[in-house]
Amino acid sequence: MTTLAEQTTGSHRVLVEARERVLERGIGLDAAGVLAVLRLPDELVPEALALAHEVRMRWCGPEVEVEGIVSLKTGGCPEDCHFCSQSGRFDSPVRSAWLDIPALVEAARATAATGATEFCIVAAVRGPDERLMSQMREGVAAIKAAVDIQIAASLGMLTQDQVDELAAMGVHRYNHNLETARSHFPRVVTTHTFQERWDTLQMVRRAGMEVCCGGIIGMGETLEQRAEFAAQLAELDPDEVPLNFLNPRPGTPFGDLPPLSAADALRAVAAFRLALPRTILRFAGGREITLGDLGTRDGLLGGVNAMIVGNYLTTLGRDPAADLALLTELSMPIKALGTAV
Ligand code: SF4
Repeated sequence: MTTLAEQTTGSHRVLVEARERVLERGIGLDAAGVLAVLRLPDELVPEALALAHEVRMRWCGPEVEVEGIVSLKTGGCPEDCHFCSQSGRFDSPVRSAWLDIPALVEAARATAATGATEFCIVAAVRGPDERLMSQMREGVAAIKAAVDIQIAASLGMLTQDQVDELAAMGVHRYNHNLETARSHFPRVVTTHTFQERWDTLQMVRRAGMEVCCGGIIGMGETLEQRAEFAAQLAELDPDEVPLNFLNPRPGTPFGDLPPLSAADALRAVAAFRLALPRTILRFAGGREITLGDLGTRDGLLGGVNAMIVGNYLTTLGRDPAADLALLTELSMPIKALGTAV
């Protein structure tokens, strides 16, 4: 039988090895290494976060990318992602609605005014139809004419022609989340596959757009699957990873799942940074639920280097001024336009 002292030494060794591999050599942890971090005892979580912060500072630098997000088409999606209140298949309160082009430009302007450099246009769809592509043509051109900001898009699964057209419009980054580990995906979505999402991401990469791909932690996956997901993201090697924590939405199949504990959320932040030393790692939805104000600070000092300001798609986020004041207090400059990697 191992003693408590031996167990602690063993856990501590996980961080010593991670320091040597990730911090010194810039090589991300594999699934086994991520799992070991996800299993660290609570008392070592601050040390894991401190190491993740050192890794972020060494391999990414102090800048924080600030992004705004707007929903061009909300709700009524035909897909059945079990966490999503925008699916038209569940009895959730989000109803289908479209934003018009002047409102889209105004949202881009308001986002740029916060200092954000990235504006992501999102639509709740399986993939774009002709109406959505024509809205994008008009909307992207109108924003480019009026506002100095980089435009990203998140419009679901794409055909090769749509990928090429978005790249030609000047959409510089495309978001499409894998959401969870390949082995857990069929318990989260049944209307399309992990592979279909993966294929869209490969087309996006080949077309020269930046790849933004993350997921949601706390959807009933095991710790092994959480580690598997981190390793699959590392294999994809995205430019940016938005890390969400499940915010159980009423009316969705995952509406009754318990929110992740703060300690588990912070272990995940540290572990994903240690798997992805050079990636822009963003705190996305759900952080207010699991972490509150303190957690935002812990995340930024634990490997996170991007954030969304203002509202998320279907839930309210924090006041942008509070987030921006926190960056100033932590001496983390907002990444300037044009320096996004
Ligand atoms: S495809 Fe997107 S908008 Fe549609 S249900 Fe899934 S997560 Fe929600």
